[in-house]
Amino acid sequence: MDENKQALLKQLPGVDRIIEFAADGQQFDCIPKSVLIPAIRDAIDLLRRQILESKTPPDSHCFSLESLVTVVKEQAARSMALRLRRTVNTTGVVVHTNLGRSLLSPAVMEHLTTISSRYSNLEFDLKEGRRGSRYSAVEGILCELSGAQAAMVVNNNAAAVLLCLDTLAAGHEVIVSRGELVEIGGAFRIPDVMAKSGAILKEVGTTNRTHPRDYENAIGEQTGLLLKVHTSNYSIVGFTTAVSLPDLVSIGQRHNLPVMEDLGSGTLVDFSKYGLIKEPTVQESLAAGVDVVTFSGDKLLGGPQAGVILGGKRHIGRIKANPLTRALRIDKMTLAALEATLQLYRDEHQALHQIPTLRMLTLPLTVIQGRAAELKSRLERVSGGRLTVELLDLSSKAGGGSLPLLDLPSRCLGVTVEGTSANAVELWMRNSSPPIIGRIENDRFIMDPRTLQEEDLDIIEKAFADMLADGT
Ligand SMILES: *Cc1c(COP(=O)(O)O)cnc(C)c1O
Repeated sequence: MDENKQALLKQLPGVDRIIEFAADGQQFDCIPKSVLIPAIRDAIDLLRRQILESKTPPDSHCFSLESLVTVVKEQAARSMALRLRRTVNTTGVVVHTNLGRSLLSPAVMEHLTTISSRYSNLEFDLKEGRRGSRYSAVEGILCELSGAQAAMVVNNNAAAVLLCLDTLAAGHEVIVSRGELVEIGGAFRIPDVMAKSGAILKEVGTTNRTHPRDYENAIGEQTGLLLKVHTSNYSIVGFTTAVSLPDLVSIGQRHNLPVMEDLGSGTLVDFSKYGLIKEPTVQESLAAGVDVVTFSGDKLLGGPQAGVILGGKRHIGRIKANPLTRALRIDKMTLAALEATLQLYRDEHQALHQIPTLRMLTLPLTVIQGRAAELKSRLERVSGGRLTVELLDLSSKAGGGSLPLLDLPSRCLGVTVEGTSANAVELWMRNSSPPIIGRIENDRFIMDPRTLQEEDLDIIEKAFADMLADGT
């Protein structure tokens, strides 16, 4: 090593020296020791590496204690920043699994804040003055809204399916159509959940066609349950036949077997009334006579992550008595958010306006066009002639394995930045604060206004202004 470098290494201050220097201006006072010490070591290490690796050693300014303190503070701020952060969703995918699925409405948040920051009657019967059931907060309203006799809620729909199979069919065969053996991402596969529950999978039919006789022929001594799974994230089109739920229910009744349906993205609203394609509703499943139906709380329902189980008193009673419920039980924050979300469904109009998922799915195209035009003119204002903003007629998606075939017409922005690739724009947006998540199509950065919230236009405008100012 040359002498010059050795001399520089000798000049590196130690941890104590930096702390002493910072103590003067109380510069590190808000940084916990466990964060501070590694941050200081990192800063010194970085400087040491710069000396060793670079041809031209860092200038003496880098050695100043002031500059080291700044580096340490920046590093400490980075390491103390929360990892779970809000993001701006400009993908146009409404129930975006990677971006947190459904957003809760402000009315729901208010109740959630109160219940989680104060004591509550979570498991206390205020009328009787003794222990109560946590499920009673949502049982009544779930039955009222759906027409079910009884209700139960757990942590998510995967848990609901597991619990139902374990209760109703452990050690017995469960008959499912081959076309419904779905994987819904995140390693939830019907056959695997079935195996964990101790039920034995009995596939019938073929991928594209299953007939009533396929179920009839498969029923035997060992059969415990007939299961229908809503193939919510894909669709089999062409030469297909599936057994309808009412037909499956009548087969179940003839053989005295319970019928369960995993609706996945269960909805209480018939979207076909609002110009979207038909998605089977929870009410329809129950009216068809299904014994148990399960669905997610945070897909089309637009509430918190939860698994809802509805059905007849006898089956739900058995499900509640299963010791697994304790392991899968819903948390009080979820329960509060779920109850407040369900309350909004008492008035469908209110639900469509106040539940963000429903509002975004049914957002009129004219509103989206208005937002697109506004964002375009804001971007052009900060553009300095370097942005090309096009309005494109593309489509949004429901997402979350919901309404798989649905393309929601939307008006998107396609942005190109002079001298910069779409990939670089996407990266800048993803790394800005808060991160803005969009997509790339035909070498343009695409933003769909459907999934933007009130304050997001300001955030996007600022991110573009910063990017242009940075000279990217
Ligand atoms: C989404 C989905 C599940 C799992 O629901 P989670 O709430 O994510 O646990 C199960 N079955 C089907 C058909 C689904 O679409």
